[in-house]
Amino acid sequence: MMNSSLPPRISIVVPMYNESENVAIFFETLVPILDHIDSDWEVVCVDDGSADDTVARVKARHSQDSRIKLVSLSRNFGKEAALTAGLFHARGQAVIPMDADLQDPPELIVEMVEKWREGFQVVLATRRLRNGDGMLKRITAAWFYRLIGKLSNIDIPKNTGDFRLMDRVVVDALLHLPERTRFMKGLLAWVGFRTTQVFYDRPERAAGNTKFNFRSLWKLALDGVFAFSTVPLKIWTYVGAVISLFSFSYAIYLIIRTITSGSDVPGYASIMVAVLFIGGIQLISLGIIGEYVGRIYRETKQRPLYLVQETVGMEKVNVYDPY
Ligand code: UDP
Ligand code: MG
Repeated sequence: MMNSSLPPRISIVVPMYNESENVAIFFETLVPILDHIDSDWEVVCVDDGSADDTVARVKARHSQDSRIKLVSLSRNFGKEAALTAGLFHARGQAVIPMDADLQDPPELIVEMVEKWREGFQVVLATRRLRNGDGMLKRITAAWFYRLIGKLSNIDIPKNTGDFRLMDRVVVDALLHLPERTRFMKGLLAWVGFRTTQVFYDRPERAAGNTKFNFRSLWKLALDGVFAFSTVPLKIWTYVGAVISLFSFSYAIYLIIRTITSGSDVPGYASIMVAVLFIGGIQLISLGIIGEYVGRIYRETKQRPLYLVQETVGMEKVNVYDPY
């Protein structure tokens, strides 16, 4: 499938969505650091359907330095899919996904590679501070990690994004997970392997604005919960049990009261409250079941995770190829 040249030792995978302003500064910072570590590297840029001139700029870089390569997707598939596409194309013995906006400081790669050479298969880059993120994002992120920690069996490392070094073994394991919902943080934690951490302070974006809004983060959080936990499905058994217990006790109370002091007609308010409450609970649980059914539906369709428009400097790898 590949040409006969040896695969590079280190692959950097960079999802890019309208990062035109960042391309130049990104490579100017990254390339000298990579050259310092080892000359044998590649950077796989994944254009996630950018509407600006990101693609043209990366192509221009490629013509100066063929180690800079491009996979261009047919439209915007979202960061998780773009990252997956990049992992499918990367050939390195160690693969490092990182953002294009320099929020993942390239200097850290030196330390990560050192740890890898010591024998670690996963080196997580963990944020000490999140200066680059707003107050609200910090708080919601903290809640999210706590929630998912409680709901799922896997331990998703806190304050750790996709920026990490992975050995080839880990990448291959990841690429063999057939699921369509790519909640990368979760999948990366799920595969395990010998893991260590390095720490850094998260800086602000070099240029441009965040590509995530509240809605896309909410979607991501839901993906995380529903892809890694079935607790939301199961709690209804217990909610139902508790409600049944209450209504049973209430029924006994009513029977006794009717026997002792006769029946009385009033009770409209309590009936309304009970009906609405149970109705609400049932709708919520139906919605949750719907959420899972929708996901099962999406998985069974077996659509590819991404489609490639073109590649520059490397061969196209479709998502089904490695199987
Ligand atoms: N990104 C992408 N596709 C998208 C959204 C974002 O490939 O649909 C890329 C983006 O270009 C950047 C990285 O994902 O390289 C992280 O995005 P961003 O910096 O906007 O996220 P934040 O740092 O605010 O969480
Ligand atoms: Mg960013």
